[in-house]
Amino acid sequence: MKKYIAEPFRIKMVEPIEMTTREEREEELKKAHHNMFGLDSKKVYIDLLTDSGTGAMSDTQWAGIMRGDEAYAGGQSYKKLVEVSKEIFDYEFIQPVHQGRAAEKALFPLLLKEGKFAISNMFFDTTRAHVELAGARAIDCVVEEAKDPSIYADFKGNMDTKRLEEIINDKGSENIGLIVMTITNNSAGGQPVSVKNLRDTYKIAKKYDIPVCIDAARFAENAYFVKQREKEFKDKSIEEITKETFKNADMFTMSAKKDAIVNIGGLIGIKNDEKLYNDLKANVISYEGFITYGGLSGRDLEALAIGLKEGMNYDYLRYRIGQVEYLASKLDDYNIAYQKPAGGHGIFLDAKAILSHIPYYEFPGHTLAVELYRQAGIRTCDIGSYMLGNDPDTGEQLKADFEFTRLAIPRRVYTRAHFDVMAEAIKDVYDRRDEIKGFKITWEPKVLRHFQAHLKPIE
Ligand SMILES: *Cc1c(COP(=O)(O)O)cnc(C)c1O
Repeated sequence: MKKYIAEPFRIKMVEPIEMTTREEREEELKKAHHNMFGLDSKKVYIDLLTDSGTGAMSDTQWAGIMRGDEAYAGGQSYKKLVEVSKEIFDYEFIQPVHQGRAAEKALFPLLLKEGKFAISNMFFDTTRAHVELAGARAIDCVVEEAKDPSIYADFKGNMDTKRLEEIINDKGSENIGLIVMTITNNSAGGQPVSVKNLRDTYKIAKKYDIPVCIDAARFAENAYFVKQREKEFKDKSIEEITKETFKNADMFTMSAKKDAIVNIGGLIGIKNDEKLYNDLKANVISYEGFITYGGLSGRDLEALAIGLKEGMNYDYLRYRIGQVEYLASKLDDYNIAYQKPAGGHGIFLDAKAILSHIPYYEFPGHTLAVELYRQAGIRTCDIGSYMLGNDPDTGEQLKADFEFTRLAIPRRVYTRAHFDVMAEAIKDVYDRRDEIKGFKITWEPKVLRHFQAHLKPIE
């Protein structure tokens, strides 16, 4: 078993959480129509629904909250954030926004329109949505090994560069508006992208004159994996790897609710295209507010400026990724399938393999999520056919490549004992897997149904 890496911090403030009984949880499940998003957070013991905006800020960040400059224009917290970001990424223009999707909403329409395509190693769902809202089509182009959870590969998040070039030639390079590199690759299980792959992709993009945007939500976790797994960077710092990473793009969008360890925030960076930045400012003012606050309060900007640096601290990253690897090694002991190797921000249980008797249209990923809540009050979510939804033309249930149950780990929140509880609960559910039955949807809204649908266990 992997050693648990001790926390590089101590605890100064606590937030009590409620212990519930199995009977209570049964009641809560019924009240929520068996939808994880319908559960009351008070009735969740360990909340692994997402790692987005759920991290614990440091004492330095909380001190920053008190020092935030709330000026509408020309604020000091804005200046500090821009300065810190320029230093980290080496980009000339930095624009705060209120979260990742706001960055996508402001930037993408400047690069995409009807008839255009955007290609990514894998689009995150809001990123895909904003490509499509801009009128364009989104194409995923991840390496093949990402699609088999049982295969180990160092960089399962990579772009398939051979296929990328084929798609460019097939669609016509003039029709490709944007290439998006998502680091780490969230939808494939928080899998990293190598610097070599970023370089190769950028080279192809330059050859065909296509701009590259990094979707940078987990840039620091990605840099940590690069240091571990890519020989050239073994002796480089997270800061150096980050600079090298961002050389291979023209712009980035970032949800700061992940690696920058804030509860709300986002960023846009533009390497040197001043015209693009000027157009962007117009969109930001319309959607987010004046450019020196970008939909955030001054205190949020201050906490973000501090969090960006804390999220890049090596000892912190070692502890954070170590937590995920600790849980993974326990699952290895029990022979329980998950997307291998462990990702940066969580474990993606392979529900297709674990509940192999439940077909995709009875939602194995969701079923496993319900069982984990029933077992131990742990909230997770489905990343599979339940989330994917129906074909918009035929109304038929789509079949996803994966059936994952995602345990997304909030930053600096849970202790080793919580991880032991998670592992035990997974094992207990695994031991009684043959008795577990799937689910049927009894009501669903037209779009993004997984947030609101009502479900019923199949008898
Ligand atoms: C979370 C996330 C986004 C969207 O960010 P929000 O802050 O939730 O709007 C975009 N891309 C990736 C890879 C993400 O993980």
